[in-house]
Amino acid sequence: MKPMAPKDLIGKRVSILDKGWIELQDLMGDDLAIVNAARVSFLGESKGEARDKKLLFYLMQHRHTSPFEQVEFKFRVRAPVVTWWQWVRHRTWSFNAQSGRYVPFEEDDFYIPSSWRYQSPSNKQASLGELPAAESALWSEALSKHVQESYRLYERALGAGIAREQARLFLPGFAVYYTWVAKVDAHNLMHFLRLRMADDAQYEIRVYAQAIYEHFFKPALPWTAEAFELFVLGQPPASAE
Ligand SMILES: Cc1cc2nc3c(=O)[nH]c(=O)nc-3n(C[C@H](O)[C@H](O)[C@H](O)COP(=O)(O)OP(=O)(O)OC[C@H]3O[C@@H](n4cnc5c(N)ncnc54)[C@H](O)[C@@H]3O)c2cc1C
Repeated sequence: MKPMAPKDLIGKRVSILDKGWIELQDLMGDDLAIVNAARVSFLGESKGEARDKKLLFYLMQHRHTSPFEQVEFKFRVRAPVVTWWQWVRHRTWSFNAQSGRYVPFEEDDFYIPSSWRYQSPSNKQASLGELPAAESALWSEALSKHVQESYRLYERALGAGIAREQARLFLPGFAVYYTWVAKVDAHNLMHFLRLRMADDAQYEIRVYAQAIYEHFFKPALPWTAEAFELFVLGQPPASAE
């Protein structure tokens, strides 16, 4: 029988961007849980590694998706708001987020990219290529100064007794770092990963999706990851299921 998903993944934290990170808070299930859920249809259970893996591949290939919902991941994420608002479009996740109404922002709570990308000439939503390093450094410095000035006004507003919920209007909204907890099952996580690891996803969410896949999904569900790469990644979206 295949070993359980490694529990030492729980608590593991991976650094992303300049000050962001993602950590696995909890994990329920493994590849075998998916296989066993499928076999419940005929009240069966594990039939040995080779047949279990074959069944899991069959499920992935034929979009028999519900057994993959038996596995759940819970993450704690720190990322800029530009990442957050794209992430929360995925309605199949459950979220709880930090509130700027309760907790004041810190001076260092801002994303300052070290490299800057050109607007893509052909795709209105995308970027293409990077500015030369020296030019990027100037833009990073400009954003840093902008953030410092904004933060100074934020602090002044708080000092004048203005409520946190309103004082935050002085902060550069897309750059501010937020922390949230997010739970999702493996089926819907694969949907997220397919969309957000793709080349047309914004870099600031792609790096989180890639970290989830490499550091948590693959080690927790090695057979599922193999089947996902074989039957889903690089393929056009499946029709309505
Ligand atoms: C590259 C890229 C560019 C994007 N650009 C834009 C943009 O310009 N503007 C914009 O508004 N959004 C944009 N989005 C967000 C996109 O439209 C989706 O909202 C987001 O990717 C979540 O996808 P989803 O709805 O499939 O996922 P989820 O919300 O996780 O849903 C998963 C699946 O569940 C089903 N489902 C969930 N809720 C419902 C429902 N209420 N009714 C029917 N089926 C449901 C659907 O099959 C859905 O695919 C972009 C996304 C990407 C990846």
